[in-house]
Amino acid sequence: MKKISIIGSGFSGLSSAAFLAKEGFDVTILEKNESVGGRARLFKEKGYSFDMGPSWYWMPEIFEKFFNEFDVKISDLYDLKQLDPGFKIIFKDKEINLPSSWKETCNLFEKHEKNGAKKLDKFMQDAQVKYSIGLEFLYNSPGLSFGELFNTKIIKNLNKLQLLTSYRNHIKKYFSNPYLINILEFPVLFLGTSAKHTPALYSLMAYSGIKQGTFYPIGGFNKVIKSMEKVCLDLGVTILTNTEVKKINVKKSKAVSVSTNKNEILSDFIVASADYAHVEKKLLEKKHRNYSKEYWQSKSFSPSSLLFYLGINKKLNNLDHHTLFFDEEIEKHSNEIYETPKWPSKPLFYTCCPSKTDPNVAPKGKENLFILIPIAAGLKDSDLIREKYFKIIMKRLEGYCNVDIKKHIEYKKSYCINDFIEDYNAFKGNAYGLANTLMQTANLKPKIINKKVKNIYYTGQLTVPGPGVPPSIISGQLVAEQIIKKNK
Ligand SMILES: Cc1cc2nc3c(=O)[nH]c(=O)nc-3n(C[C@H](O)[C@H](O)[C@H](O)COP(=O)(O)OP(=O)(O)OC[C@H]3O[C@@H](n4cnc5c(N)ncnc54)[C@H](O)[C@@H]3O)c2cc1C
Repeated sequence: MKKISIIGSGFSGLSSAAFLAKEGFDVTILEKNESVGGRARLFKEKGYSFDMGPSWYWMPEIFEKFFNEFDVKISDLYDLKQLDPGFKIIFKDKEINLPSSWKETCNLFEKHEKNGAKKLDKFMQDAQVKYSIGLEFLYNSPGLSFGELFNTKIIKNLNKLQLLTSYRNHIKKYFSNPYLINILEFPVLFLGTSAKHTPALYSLMAYSGIKQGTFYPIGGFNKVIKSMEKVCLDLGVTILTNTEVKKINVKKSKAVSVSTNKNEILSDFIVASADYAHVEKKLLEKKHRNYSKEYWQSKSFSPSSLLFYLGINKKLNNLDHHTLFFDEEIEKHSNEIYETPKWPSKPLFYTCCPSKTDPNVAPKGKENLFILIPIAAGLKDSDLIREKYFKIIMKRLEGYCNVDIKKHIEYKKSYCINDFIEDYNAFKGNAYGLANTLMQTANLKPKIINKKVKNIYYTGQLTVPGPGVPPSIISGQLVAEQIIKKNK
């Protein structure tokens, strides 16, 4: 049986492990941290369960499709709840709840702009086309040749995909109300770039987040990781935690083993799902790398984040499950991430309070509060600066919730660039991989196969299809399919 070593146990690593084990390979996942899940790990403290990373469950059919491949139904694994409202946005002078009902969403748009409902319907019809072609493209495009772009469906619908139109301009063709524009622009923040620099194709994100709705797995996002881990274990995958890969050993242009902090593991194929730049720079000799140091420096990275995980011994008024604080100038913060990277002068931030929906994540009568401030990757991180931003955010939150929150904090942990580097070997401490700009889309992303050592493969948010949980799951599948094809 051919042996496969998978470096890293995030969504992409678990996904490729499951597909490869199903084909009969002898698969071992090597994970440096003490638990699986990568950026989607969970930790428990003082009766609270904190999801460390993802909290927005969008594109539900991608999760469904993954589990169905292994004859498992999501309903047997976790209880998926549609949130209502899907999310709330706080602007300077008003707040808007995004209802889960499509009819109410249309009414909301109508209230803010003449013919808003009709325009939204048209916008979403177009976005649905992009979504359906986009998904088919993602599953069929390992980014190996430009020929993939010429598949007949893509060619036939090229004008509908609007790869060369900016998403912001696309929205402005439909809407002029600034609140509606902000609502529709928000979903592409997940792509690690601003609406100005994102192709209109990505209105598919708005289709998923606003038309399909926002979901939540009861028990927390880590339920998805646990479910994928179970699929892997049932298929016979070996998962070794606290096992850090230190080197990929290559002989005569073929990878033969990996050296870990514990031993050497013989391997016929390597799947590197750890951050691509780390694998290349730290685990491979220079002559075996796909890309140079300068290549990585020249890439546009999606933001990192300053995060706070808080246990609050009191219920908080006004917050929803997902609340976006867009009560400062959006463009300014965006420029301080993408154009002239620096710590934001007046930060926007996001809070996730899953205890509003789920009694499992905080003790009774208390709140589990996750705060995320997007920042440029590569900034200088220190305890002092984290505290400075904590105070700024607390002041705004306390004002909004009308409570002295600080007095009620019984658990607090911060997480930022230095932790992303330490925990995940993340280049510049990035949180979500490479930005999805046009020049870093599809075939222009780092390649999934090593050009010099043909049995080394790369998967995860730094390669195709890109950042986010659904793309990482697809990425694992794409790499597995390449190995399966090669081994036939
Ligand atoms: C704060 C935050 C919020 C997010 N929110 C969302 C969201 O709401 N919705 C969404 O869809 N996406 C979200 N994302 C993005 C999403 O979490 C990621 O795109 C996805 O989890 C990446 O999976 P991955 O497998 O590519 O990488 P990772 O999860 O980083 O997995 C890579 C693994 O490799 C391990 N590793 C690294 N080096 C080595 C080594 N040398 N040896 C062994 N193991 C190693 C790491 O420890 C890690 O476990 C968020 C991310 C963050 C950080």
